[in-house]
Amino acid sequence: MTTVESAVERISGVLGSGGIILGDEVHAKLSLWGQRWQTDAPAMLRPRSTAEVSAILKICHELGQPVVACGGGTGLVGGHSTGAGELLLSLELMNRIEEIDPLNRYAVVEAGVPLQTLQEQAAAKKLLYPLDLGARGTATVGGNISTNAGGNRVIRYGMTRDMVLGLEAVTADGSVISSMNKMIKNNAGYDLKHLFIGSEGTLGIVTRAVLRLREAPLSQMTAFVAAPDYPSVLKLLKTMDRGLGGMLSAFEAMWRDFYELVTTSPAKNRPPIENIHPYYVLIEAMGGDQEGDQARFEAILGQALEDGTIADAVIAKSDAERAAIWAMRDDVGQTARLRPIFAFDVSLPISLMEGYVAELEKSLKGAHPDGKLVIFGHLGDGNVHIVAGIGQGGEDARKVVEDIVYGPLRSRGGSVSAEHGIGLEKRAYLGFSRSPEEIALMRTIKKAMDPKNILNPGKVLQPHGTAH
Ligand SMILES: Cc1cc2nc3c(=O)[nH]c(=O)nc-3n(C[C@H](O)[C@H](O)[C@H](O)COP(=O)(O)OP(=O)(O)OC[C@H]3O[C@@H](n4cnc5c(N)ncnc54)[C@H](O)[C@@H]3O)c2cc1C
Repeated sequence: MTTVESAVERISGVLGSGGIILGDEVHAKLSLWGQRWQTDAPAMLRPRSTAEVSAILKICHELGQPVVACGGGTGLVGGHSTGAGELLLSLELMNRIEEIDPLNRYAVVEAGVPLQTLQEQAAAKKLLYPLDLGARGTATVGGNISTNAGGNRVIRYGMTRDMVLGLEAVTADGSVISSMNKMIKNNAGYDLKHLFIGSEGTLGIVTRAVLRLREAPLSQMTAFVAAPDYPSVLKLLKTMDRGLGGMLSAFEAMWRDFYELVTTSPAKNRPPIENIHPYYVLIEAMGGDQEGDQARFEAILGQALEDGTIADAVIAKSDAERAAIWAMRDDVGQTARLRPIFAFDVSLPISLMEGYVAELEKSLKGAHPDGKLVIFGHLGDGNVHIVAGIGQGGEDARKVVEDIVYGPLRSRGGSVSAEHGIGLEKRAYLGFSRSPEEIALMRTIKKAMDPKNILNPGKVLQPHGTAH
């Protein structure tokens, strides 16, 4: 019997019927986003409690059996990709919202709760769970925590890390680290939750969490504007942020090529503004007084129009109009029309973005004159998504484009991963954004917490002996 067979046999005894899915059914259950990564796991384990996760990991630790956690499978860097000798551990049956406390403003949830479910349950109690991203219907709280997901409202509320008050995780040897803190302030020693947030399932399996909720906003203002040049986009960000006094909650930019893609057939979105400007920005603010806030929002935009900071603007007058504006931003699937494509998620100080993009365009045209770039994303956070199509796929073509995209980040102090993580996809480039000393400390932590290297092995850090 192979290691994986004896692990499955022993774990079946723990999980019982319905607790394990085998063979081809595993593939049917978890379709990975994108084509590059595989799910060759012979079994998907579906525990129903932290105690069951602990029992599974005790067995796997004893046998040296690798385990890969998965939530909704919407990760974009191959973090939950599995080989034939690895087991998938899905949190999908751990999907209870245990408590929403309106007075203390937190939610206690299991890791398999889909993000949108939590958003809706919080809204039903007039509260806001601020994390929001396009994959909200499928992505899970556990996946969000493990990738430290960012999304559309980081400029106002921070990343997932800023929303986690406490969590419970199971480490490689099956130990349960229950750190379900419910307070905003707790400086009693090391804050261990941060080891599990953003570590992509390599240091522990997150099973439960306490998440901070905010009061639901009483006002929401959304606009879509066009800007004549990049300095005007920067000026607009400062103008809106200052003028709105803390209410700015989204500043999402689209370069012209992205706007064209999402507003032309087969895309269903109708262009609210003519496609003749170099930059478009979705701006959203949330406050406490619909009439007063709306007037302020419109006055600031009116002034920006008058002084030429923006060239055109539409302001949503209904929820349907707001949804239509967001639908354009969320319609990232249109980038598949450039297939084969390579997609990136990079971060830079925003003042350096224009020069970076110019260098990128020049290098790409130099290498591939017919190459296409579309750029969009959370510009208010210094984070853009870049999709490049050069008419060829394959690993050689990918390497050329990766070097073009990641190379200029190094000298500018940028990050090869703003919010999607490292997974398998960016391992070779981790050293562009982290120093040798930082990577060495990451290895030390991994070794201390997972000495047999059974938790999501090979993700984030290159196998030993491979340079970063
Ligand atoms: C259309 C679309 C839009 C997106 N927009 C954004 C965006 O704006 N911002 C953003 O940050 N991301 C975005 N993403 C990426 C993705 O949705 C996030 O990374 C999300 O947090 C992943 O959650 P998941 O449940 O799908 O995790 P999975 O994809 O299942 O897993 C992701 C990683 O987390 C690990 N993991 C999952 N659950 C656990 C657990 N319980 N314990 C330990 N490790 C675990 C996995 O091993 C893997 O390494 C987008 C993806 C899509 C498809």
